[in-house]
Amino acid sequence: MESKESKYCTKCRVLKKIEEFSFRNKTKGYRHSECRECLSNREKIRNQDPIRKEAHRLYGASDKAKAQRKIYYQTPAGRAAQQRSNNSIKGLAAHKAFRESENGKNGQLRWLASESGKLSRKKIDARWSAANPEKVLIKGHRYRARRYGIIGQNHTEIDRENKFLEYGGRCAYEGRIGCKLIATTLDHIIPLVLGGTNEISNCVPACGSCNSSKGGKPVEDWKWTQIIADELTGAMPLWL
Ligand SMILES: [Zn+2]
Ligand SMILES: [Zn+2]
Repeated sequence: MESKESKYCTKCRVLKKIEEFSFRNKTKGYRHSECRECLSNREKIRNQDPIRKEAHRLYGASDKAKAQRKIYYQTPAGRAAQQRSNNSIKGLAAHKAFRESENGKNGQLRWLASESGKLSRKKIDARWSAANPEKVLIKGHRYRARRYGIIGQNHTEIDRENKFLEYGGRCAYEGRIGCKLIATTLDHIIPLVLGGTNEISNCVPACGSCNSSKGGKPVEDWKWTQIIADELTGAMPLWL
């Protein structure tokens, strides 16, 4: 039975609650004769028309629409909608395509050159370094090898791990006074600065103390500056 609280939709002919009919004129209290669902279906069908589609696309690309979107994306609802869209499969793919485009690449370069970009980059780098201490050391060795113009194969992370296993994680210069025993670095037997290579055959695990004491000196020169013999037995450390 039609009443003030409900009425029949002229399209689907179903008796529905009055709230199911949107306002045609809110101040005068006039509602549409078709229910919300029927109106929305009608709109969907209308939007499939290629001419309307093209008009819609043109409007979306206009400055007016861009300005409106900008305002909308600053509202809480707009921000939420943008996040949903960014995290959707379509959104992620669009972002990837943009990043790889000329525009995207140029934008990233501009951002990296800006003050806030530099600051942010530093933070990201610091986080990466903290999470990848081993990779930092390897990168450092490669950088130095490149700087000294050293040719030859760089050691890899696996090489490094195997070398540490070979020495049981102990410093190769064990027996030197001041040696911390536990290896935390990879030392170049012939230093890079003296033309040693960054190949694993030129590397041994070393504790920080031995590594920094040896520095850029050849092992042959350096070892005689160390207090070497066992005080009681007079025995020399194995590596000498
Ligand atoms: Zn209806
Ligand atoms: Zn040591």
